[in-house]
Amino acid sequence: MKLKRGDALVVASHNRGKLREIKELLAAFGFAVKGAAELRLAEPEETGLTFEDNAILKARVAAQTSGMTALADDSGLSVAALGGAPGIHSARWAGESKDFSAAMARVERELKERCMADFSAKFVCVLALAAPTGETETFRGEVEGHLVFPPRGGKGFGYDPIFVANGMTKTFAEIEPAAKHAMSHRAHAFAKLVNSPIFSQ
Ligand code: IMP
Repeated sequence: MKLKRGDALVVASHNRGKLREIKELLAAFGFAVKGAAELRLAEPEETGLTFEDNAILKARVAAQTSGMTALADDSGLSVAALGGAPGIHSARWAGESKDFSAAMARVERELKERCMADFSAKFVCVLALAAPTGETETFRGEVEGHLVFPPRGGKGFGYDPIFVANGMTKTFAEIEPAAKHAMSHRAHAFAKLVNSPIFSQ
């Protein structure tokens, strides 16, 4: 698979926070980006057991139905003391109503119930690129840090208000998008994509 500056790309995500960040991260590469909702693509059920499985599944469905190269992001928060949870179930912990205050409260409750003092956590992002032929490539990025309670900040999305990256004092929801893009799991995965042999300027 080959991808070059200016190519049309469908981003296989209905998550508005994620889509905004992906568009910001792609802006420098001149792709003509379309969102999955814009193309009325279905949201497949995420039946995989890993971030890689789910990213590939979403990218393949979007590429096959749109006939375009598709980029999917499967990501989540992995809390060490919870054995990596919520992990691939990060979106599901927010329920049908996508209530991330409830999801963050659940993380806090589960840590307290287990009397856990280790609040270390990481965000993981796996990007999958799929061609309409079914060919795929994946790129993984991670950012390590710790959790803080109560949640702080109104920027970002999802679990950002409880996550502080190593070396930082502010949560991802308290810093500007450009600062998050300089260190995030998603930015690390993008750096791998644009530095891979499949991408040419
Ligand atoms: P999925 O990849 O669609 O299964 O959803 C991933 C979920 O992980 C999102 O709904 C967010 O809750 C969470 N997540 C992924 N990336 C981030 C991030 O950068 N900040 C905060 N939460 C995130």
